[in-house]
Amino acid sequence: MSLSIIGMGYVGLTTATCFAAKGQNVLGVEVNRDKLKNLKLGIPSFHEDGLNKLLLTNIGKSLHISYDLNSAILESDISFICVGTPTIDGEIDLSFVKNCLRDILSILKNKDSFHIIVIKSTVVPNSTDIVFKKIIEEEFQFKVGKDIGLCVNPEFLREGSAVDDFMNPDRVVIGTSDELSEKKLISLYECFPGVPIISVSNSSAELIKYTSNSFFATLISFANEISNISEKLYDTNIIDVFEGLFADRRFSNNQKDRAKALPGLVTYLKPGPGFGGSCFPKDVKALAACSTSLSFEPSLLNAVLKVNEFQPYNLLEHAKRLVGSLSKRKVGVLGLSFKSNSDDIRESKSIELVKLLVHEKAIVYAHDPMAMKNTRDFLKNYSVNYEEDLQKVVSKCDFVFVCVDWPEYKNLDVVVNSLNPNIFILDAKLFLDKRKYKHIAAVGDCRLAHD
Ligand code: NAD
Repeated sequence: MSLSIIGMGYVGLTTATCFAAKGQNVLGVEVNRDKLKNLKLGIPSFHEDGLNKLLLTNIGKSLHISYDLNSAILESDISFICVGTPTIDGEIDLSFVKNCLRDILSILKNKDSFHIIVIKSTVVPNSTDIVFKKIIEEEFQFKVGKDIGLCVNPEFLREGSAVDDFMNPDRVVIGTSDELSEKKLISLYECFPGVPIISVSNSSAELIKYTSNSFFATLISFANEISNISEKLYDTNIIDVFEGLFADRRFSNNQKDRAKALPGLVTYLKPGPGFGGSCFPKDVKALAACSTSLSFEPSLLNAVLKVNEFQPYNLLEHAKRLVGSLSKRKVGVLGLSFKSNSDDIRESKSIELVKLLVHEKAIVYAHDPMAMKNTRDFLKNYSVNYEEDLQKVVSKCDFVFVCVDWPEYKNLDVVVNSLNPNIFILDAKLFLDKRKYKHIAAVGDCRLAHD
């Protein structure tokens, strides 16, 4: 089968490269000329472990990337739409997907054979069967299931481990409304032997993706809510509190070695600066807005978002409780990306914190192993000192927030104790060894730590 993949962002490029590496013939399409120029040279526009190498191995062989949608559609059997679905005022903006769909349909007017269009972008439930189907049948007079297959194949990769997630999926979810498309998509995914395929309706596939992201976001906000309560109490230790929760046999399915049996989802039950990135905030907002539009008030989703929005303010207040006003003080922010191993700063809580610190009139020093350029471009109008050298941040600052658990910060104590042992650290990721620092606090630390 030949595949066309439209939109060479995080999802599209990873999908295209991985399918090509699995031996499929892949035609990638990208409208951004700068991105395209680099991609043709085998350079992705973002960092993802292993992607560069895989791209260089396959580009010009089983993977061809261009601006030419026309040839890509005519020469392929299945098209994956992987363009962005941002939110505007909290509601999903389907315009990129709709534009892309209309472009594909115009080209399909000149093609006789059955063509399958797969929505890989994250779209709110009923978008495919109601909004996109209407465009196909009413605007272009094609019949879904007869002339064109219309499917949903949500993507579950995580930035930071995108290639590994795509190559080793825990499941593949396929939404279809006709048997031929279902059969073809299932056979395409046979190149991932042994992976369970969940074949459902288009709308269920759409809702599975939102359920997954909303579930993990809910765990994070739950952990942050408990942590925020803990900060107000006397003599609590948030790590002990969560260990106490995880010791419950329901977490480990009654297995003897509980530590090993704990499910991966407990990593989301950990206090921190809040969730960011291109998916969780936007998808929870979009599902909440979708629910409201259906006259059902999504109280829990709204609360999840509210807790999350509050986290940077909470970090700032925590710091002020520890050392007083931050105005005119030299304050470091370590970690700017929304998570480690990524240079993506979309909706990053560190960026929110930097903005709050600038408003507080702190003298801000920012550091990140990968996301400095993106932050500099994004915060053009904010007075921030960008410091490539971690040692310089530590020597210059009175106070430092550690917002991302980059491996580079794990042994921060070595730098701190040799250069500036009196600096105050606020560990927003709960990952530093407190015993190694003179002045340190972490999210969830109760009053005892700072009274
Ligand atoms: P992105 O912004 O990184 O990439 C989108 C790309 O599409 C851009 O390069 C853009 O130039 C290109 N594009 C837009 N319109 C186009 C068109 N008509 N023709 C060709 N190219 C076009 O977005 P992303 O992070 O890859 O996300 C894409 C979708 O996948 C979104 O719906 C997102 O919610 C979902 N998703 C993202 C992730 C993630 O971790 N980033 C994970 C799962 C699902």
